[in-house]
Amino acid sequence: MKTTCPYCGVGCGVEIDAADRSVSGDRQHPANFGRLCVKGSALGETLGQEGRLLWPQVRGQRVSIDRALDVVASELQTIIAQHGPQAVAFYASGQLLTEDYYVANKLMKGFIGAANIDTNSRLCMASAVVGYKRAFGADAVPCCYEDLEQADVVVLVGSNAAWAHPVAWQRLVQAKQQRPEMKLVVIDPRRTASCELADVHLALRPGSDGALFAGLLNWLAIQGGIDQTMLPHLANVDSTLAACADWDLAAVAHTCQLADADILAFWQLFTTQPRVLTLWCMGINQSQTGSDNNNAILNVHLLSGKIGRPGCGPFSLTGQPNAMGGREVGGLANQLAAHMGFSPQEVDRLGRFWHSDRVAHQPGLMAVDLFRAIERGEVKAVWIMGTNPAVSMPEGNRVAEALRRCPLVIVSEVSAVTDTSAFADVLLPAQAWGEKNGTVTNSERRISRQRGFVAPVGEAKPDWWLLAQVAQRLGYGAAFDWQHPHEVFVEHAALSGFENAGSRAFDISALATLSREQYDQLTPVQWPVNAAAPHGSSRLFATRHFYHPDGKARLLPVGIPILSSPTRHYPLLMNTGRIRDQWHTMTRTGNVTRLMQHYDEPFVLLHPHDAAAHGLGQGDLTRVQSTLGWWCGRVMIDHGLTRGQLFIPMHWTRQFSAQANVDGLVAARSCPVSGQPALKQTAVRLQPL
Ligand code: SF4
Repeated sequence: MKTTCPYCGVGCGVEIDAADRSVSGDRQHPANFGRLCVKGSALGETLGQEGRLLWPQVRGQRVSIDRALDVVASELQTIIAQHGPQAVAFYASGQLLTEDYYVANKLMKGFIGAANIDTNSRLCMASAVVGYKRAFGADAVPCCYEDLEQADVVVLVGSNAAWAHPVAWQRLVQAKQQRPEMKLVVIDPRRTASCELADVHLALRPGSDGALFAGLLNWLAIQGGIDQTMLPHLANVDSTLAACADWDLAAVAHTCQLADADILAFWQLFTTQPRVLTLWCMGINQSQTGSDNNNAILNVHLLSGKIGRPGCGPFSLTGQPNAMGGREVGGLANQLAAHMGFSPQEVDRLGRFWHSDRVAHQPGLMAVDLFRAIERGEVKAVWIMGTNPAVSMPEGNRVAEALRRCPLVIVSEVSAVTDTSAFADVLLPAQAWGEKNGTVTNSERRISRQRGFVAPVGEAKPDWWLLAQVAQRLGYGAAFDWQHPHEVFVEHAALSGFENAGSRAFDISALATLSREQYDQLTPVQWPVNAAAPHGSSRLFATRHFYHPDGKARLLPVGIPILSSPTRHYPLLMNTGRIRDQWHTMTRTGNVTRLMQHYDEPFVLLHPHDAAAHGLGQGDLTRVQSTLGWWCGRVMIDHGLTRGQLFIPMHWTRQFSAQANVDGLVAARSCPVSGQPALKQTAVRLQPL
């Protein structure tokens, strides 16, 4: 049986032997061609009943699934009747399948009539979405993984792909072995595992990425790096170049705290080599300037014409398996389904397609604001699906307290116990990977099937089914009358093509006529998949036609960094991120013995001088304190850190230990455009125990 790995945005194809549950890489899948990382290889060990939520519960009592759904519907209905639709919210997840996501969005935005559905993808990709929409007029990633093998220069910025996207990294390693002349530039404050292969490592000051790329834009203009054939396809060129004119080498070196020679090594490679691929991830997105960071990268690719060709382009890596699918169906509170916005024409179009006069007219609450609205008592009911915001949100302790006070918390979950499910009034058992059926879209716009190959445990149900059942109880029957995810998928595909004469990038209308059998057999395909591209589209913008009404891409004058500075009382800067063998809050990977062998307890990486200055050595326990609270873990000395900075993995939660939740230390500051929280730079101090 072929299916897709449920972890990162590489979206590797997996083959499962249903008899012995052995796992191998799918040699035909274009994302991985048979490769798997250690997490993917251990997927068979995550199956089974252990730790699973098996039965529905209402306020701690086991009930039938019908009773639980009745309670959800009647209590939602009461709250909506008393306080209006804005008093309810959904908080979803990049772990959901596209079909689940579609139904959640249709219910909230199309029928309940509020747009209060946001997702943990807000923590992952929201800044990239803004960047693409501002530059291209559409949330459209131009590249594909094959570009890794075809680039002359790969620039990895704010990404430790060796650990966070291991199979993409394996492809890069292999490409560099076969073509040693290929160059790798890593831009990261830390010397990570991804630096082992780097020709150039720029350990820039945290948060200064925008200045580095604004300087590169200026450099391109001065050094003749502008692709003149690109100019007729670009708007805002003069104003953007004028805005970055002060970012000369000296200014960039000062702001980024880098040596001139290192900056020039990067800029010259970018300017002189024809095929440059820039990959980025959370170090760029999880910033108060996350949206501008994205546009700073897009600017240099557009002006130099390094886009729309093999081995070339700006390529954001999604953290989650289906962050992209969520974007397609309107999983973010500030967009509607099928890449539509909230203009009167788009609201009207969606209303006609869904046969609903209740489509939300304005954006809803984004993640941080959503939990603040719960805290203030304005949102009185929240349905959390497949995610753990009580520990994954910044100021997680405050989110947990808001959930504790919320009158109605519904949690659909795979795991019996999570930090968030502790606050649930209603617990709904959801089907897990291996049980559920549907599609996911990886970072390169490739839609792949996840297929069920084992029977669901207990009374676990598909998320789309749970949502549709509640919708029917709310009186929206016919619009939610599906029997199989295939029916949801073809409706989603039809909507993507509805009144879309090339104005919206997301178009999979060629899949709208799939039969159930064809859906079951669907092979991986990259959108757009439409009449013009019936077999999908590897790369976008080869014709240099973009999605703004005039067909031009936009440069944006950006690059002013917001640099977090340590203070006298909190003299160190804390960075957070992933480790190689764990996933999110460890509800799945934490159950696999061999994955715990990489690191088996919370730890903090410290520069040797910082450790010595605090009387700490390898293996000592220490506290890390911010203005919001403290964290406790073991010291690991890391010579790859810049002095004054430390790193803590994000995976361990309160479930592991009361003081293990690192996001409880992080203030909920966000990019004002994308709403994506800045999880990367927190001023802290050390306190030896
Ligand atoms: Fe799964 Fe990502 Fe590893 Fe591929 S690289 S096997 S998608 S975790």
